[in-house]
Amino acid sequence: MTVRIARHALAEIRADCAARAPEEACGLLLGQGGHIERGVAAPNVADERLRHFEIDPAALFAAHRGARSGGPAILGCYHSHPGALARPSRLDAQRALDAGWIWLILGQDGEKAYRVVANGSIHGRFEAVAIEVVGKASVGTR
Ligand SMILES: [Zn+2]
Repeated sequence: MTVRIARHALAEIRADCAARAPEEACGLLLGQGGHIERGVAAPNVADERLRHFEIDPAALFAAHRGARSGGPAILGCYHSHPGALARPSRLDAQRALDAGWIWLILGQDGEKAYRVVANGSIHGRFEAVAIEVVGKASVGTR
């Protein structure tokens, strides 16, 4: 499986994660039909934000409400591992309760995507998915 993400959305997510380092950043992935069009930063309300993340329930509620009223669907979430690889931790797996959600993790080795599935090969909860970045690079970058 491949998940598509808009180039500008990925750029915004990278910037959010960089700005909040060394704490873990987090947010929601919004879009349609398996295409991530936006990353929406959310407060990390975990106690130990250097090692964990917990998306502010108010942000999740607002996104659900937006989706119900015709806005983009919630396709998953993102968070950063400023001091580790972009691989789900065991705690991530314990908290990945929404089957079908895409988890985008930004770590020291870049960004990687995973899908929440039953009996996944990673901690019994995730399977790795490829990321396809779509859309033009803005003029002047690289
Ligand atoms: Zn994690």
